[in-house]
Amino acid sequence: MRELVRPVVAGNWKMHKTISEARQLAAEIVSQAPALTMASIILIPPFTAIQEVKKTVGDSGILVGGQNLFWEEEGAFTGEISAHQLKEAGCDFVIIGHSERRQYFGETDETVSQKVLAARRHGLIPIVCVGENLEERKSGKTLKKIKVQLENSLFSLAEEEFKMVILAYEPIWAIGTGQNATPEQAEEVHGYIRQLIADRYSQDLSSCAIILYGGSVKPANSFSLIKEKDINGFLVGGASLSAESFLSIVKEANRVNEG
Ligand code: PEP
Repeated sequence: MRELVRPVVAGNWKMHKTISEARQLAAEIVSQAPALTMASIILIPPFTAIQEVKKTVGDSGILVGGQNLFWEEEGAFTGEISAHQLKEAGCDFVIIGHSERRQYFGETDETVSQKVLAARRHGLIPIVCVGENLEERKSGKTLKKIKVQLENSLFSLAEEEFKMVILAYEPIWAIGTGQNATPEQAEEVHGYIRQLIADRYSQDLSSCAIILYGGSVKPANSFSLIKEKDINGFLVGGASLSAESFLSIVKEANRVNEG
């Protein structure tokens, strides 16, 4: 994806923040972010706060996303939210297939695939998460798992649509655990994903693809991760809940653009 300024740093607020808390956090981020113009910042609040966050970021250039969607257009699907509803609330992005959704809510590569199509029908950019669990890593099955996830959830997309997808490599064992993948571990998978994209689509598309890393990203580890050539930014959970730590990550990520 060529248009988004890199690095891309997205904050997944998960099931945190009321509307007023979300407004306050977004306002703090907006007020301190102008100096950080060389990164794309995406705030991903819970559904209830999307509209308020969108209003708060205004024309600052900060972008807004949702954490999930359902693939149907509308109907009797209690508790679900559609791509169209997200779009109207102010989203340009949506996380799909986060490991917490897969683990607690039964999402599969097949449902991820349907959700990606629904997001694209409404012009949303999906941020699709893939990653292995600890057992898979320990038994040397990491790359195989990633390949299967990509093949089953994304690789049937036409090139024009795949271009509009952001990928996030999120090793499950690193999410919310304080234990991040080392830069070498992350780069191995990011490079592999890029190779798979080149094999399936083209070298050109592969080098344009945005691949984020997620899993216990903190200000202290973000520069060493972003220095890796195939890491284009971060999907941040816990550390995105305070303006100070989130913006420190943005600042660290931005260092790749400095001289
Ligand atoms: C996430 O939820 O996508 C995530 C990476 O969380 P954390 O940064 O807290 O590990």
